[in-house]
Amino acid sequence: MQQQGVTVWFTGLSGAGKTTISTALYQALLAQSFKVEILDGDTVRQHLTKGLGFSKADRDENIRRIGFVAQLLTRNGVIVLVSAISPYREIREEVRSKIGNFVEVYVNAPLTVCESRDVKGLYRKARAGEIKHFTGIDDPYEVPPNAEVECKTDQETIEESVAKVFTSLQQLGYLNHLV
Ligand code: ADP
Repeated sequence: MQQQGVTVWFTGLSGAGKTTISTALYQALLAQSFKVEILDGDTVRQHLTKGLGFSKADRDENIRRIGFVAQLLTRNGVIVLVSAISPYREIREEVRSKIGNFVEVYVNAPLTVCESRDVKGLYRKARAGEIKHFTGIDDPYEVPPNAEVECKTDQETIEESVAKVFTSLQQLGYLNHLV
């Protein structure tokens, strides 16, 4: 049986846990010999979408390009883990409909929790006015109403969040190939 491709799209505020969960899931899938790739927003912005900023138009273009690559990989049987804030609902839906095999994961932690974690020190800078258009501070985040999975990372351990996504992929029939 051949592996079916799927894009697993992690969306949520900065510091919510997208990179942490997707990296751990990547390791778990690799260990089971799945073909898997990661497209992480922070990394992608250094090459594929270099030069794009954080206006709505640029954020949408960022997501469109990530979606394009994810689509190519997905149709070639790869499990693609995308982690990007992707704050706008409409472009997430556009990418979903283009890719087809698409599982949306809402990585949900309250702004106060993300801000207290301040993994990259960006909230402090945003509050100080050193960064403009920061999602959750002075830029919108549109909650996904139809995400297949929701990880409440202020209430779950990392292992629980990863297991949630893994189980959901199993239940949706994406992890059925014979090794
Ligand atoms: P993002 O990629 O969304 O910006 P990160 O993954 O870089 O967020 O940071 C999330 C932080 O939250 C990490 O320090 C991580 O250890 C912590 N954390 C606590 N609980 C969880 C959980 N259940 N899932 C993911 N991250 C968690």
